[in-house]
Amino acid sequence: MNTEKSKAEQLKEELFLTKKHAALRLTEEAVKAADAFCEGYKAFLQEAKTEREVVSCAIALAESQGFLPYDKARQYAPGDKLYLNNRGKSLILAMMGKKSLDEGLRIVAAHIDSPRIDIKPNPLYEDADLALFKTHYYSWLKKYQWTAIPLALHGVIIKKDGESLAVRLGEDAEEPCFVITDLLPHLGQKQGERKLSEGVAGEELNLLVGSRPFRDDKASELVKLNVLRLLNEKYGIIEEDFQSAELELVPAFPVRDVGLDRSLIGGYGHDDRVCAYPGLMALADAGIPEYTALTILADKEEIGSEGNTGMHSSFFRDFVADLALQAGLQAHDVLRRSECLSADVNIAFDPSWPDVMEKRNAACLNQGLVLTKYTGSQGKLFASDASAEFVGKIRRLFNREEVIWQTGELGKVDEGGGGTVAKFIANLDVDVVDAGVPVLSMHSPFEVVSKLDVYMAYRGYRVFLEGK
Ligand code: MN
Ligand code: MN
Repeated sequence: MNTEKSKAEQLKEELFLTKKHAALRLTEEAVKAADAFCEGYKAFLQEAKTEREVVSCAIALAESQGFLPYDKARQYAPGDKLYLNNRGKSLILAMMGKKSLDEGLRIVAAHIDSPRIDIKPNPLYEDADLALFKTHYYSWLKKYQWTAIPLALHGVIIKKDGESLAVRLGEDAEEPCFVITDLLPHLGQKQGERKLSEGVAGEELNLLVGSRPFRDDKASELVKLNVLRLLNEKYGIIEEDFQSAELELVPAFPVRDVGLDRSLIGGYGHDDRVCAYPGLMALADAGIPEYTALTILADKEEIGSEGNTGMHSSFFRDFVADLALQAGLQAHDVLRRSECLSADVNIAFDPSWPDVMEKRNAACLNQGLVLTKYTGSQGKLFASDASAEFVGKIRRLFNREEVIWQTGELGKVDEGGGGTVAKFIANLDVDVVDAGVPVLSMHSPFEVVSKLDVYMAYRGYRVFLEGK
């Protein structure tokens, strides 16, 4: 048999871009390391389901690695580790680098809010002997996917006297959970004629929280009363306390391995904790970096990065200004030479839904970290479009450091699109490109990612933050 390669085969090898499954490019040890890394990620995903919980978990982890709260008055030296907690909902972690700050920062920026169902300020009512909560969904989700699944209640209640009460109810099997009910198919014929996007309307997302009355023959609303009585016993709250609360409903089912080969992870909120965790670990595990390295965990990306905990706010710029001031510099001296990986997920090609993707430019599971040069929709409207020079630089870094990566787009041209925090950071005169993990069933209650891709995100963020 002639095993010699033909001229065309040789030339193809030299010239063509080839895609290959990460498992076929990694050593067996590297695959094992990826699986081991993902055990830590799974525990984090299970533990930290809201932006507040991610901040608490991240601070605990960072403190165990020697990070301390940021002190404006302190002079920092290379290797010093610090964090800035912004209202318990977003976090900046930093490790001071060997080079002067005016050589710029290396930033990994992920977001830690996920699509969910929020509780309204006046949630509790009784109808047909059932106690229910009114809700208001958060971010972009398919509302019908959030019915008839177990939900847990997470968040915070600020009580009448100002006391802050953390709520986390419905995660343990012994605890009760909650559910948004849906219509049975037998009576769902008219519902079935609605457009899928209107299959369940926003005001139909009502949460079932109880059904047994307080024992009394005279008063009305006894089921509501009984629920409030139980809440009062458990938390010491009254109905008015809901008005100064942030209560969020998230899927109550656990994080699981998916597939016979256990190659995938299914769980709630991979978008974007699947980039936040690798970004956090990359900084925690990094040696003293060349440039001062930051991992930002931002809130409110899912609703446009608005508010004082989102990347639209000045908290990040002000933090850089404070650091700069200590070094006798101004924020813009630091920012214009800074580089950022906007660590957000991209869409994984789904063979069951091929029509919305352009196959040659879609990201795939198990092909590694996805570089997304531009976001936006239609003619790149509202996009952050990274320069060829910066993408080229990241490409050289990843190739040199053996980070498996691919490119991706947010669907077919004119099909849809989206945005990330990239543009808000780019607006500060920073070079930014999106680099994240591909996800199946994105924004659903049970999203799916590949373990090898999660590990490649960690490797990619780490070599970037270390300034290799
Ligand atoms: Mn995202
Ligand atoms: Mn999202």
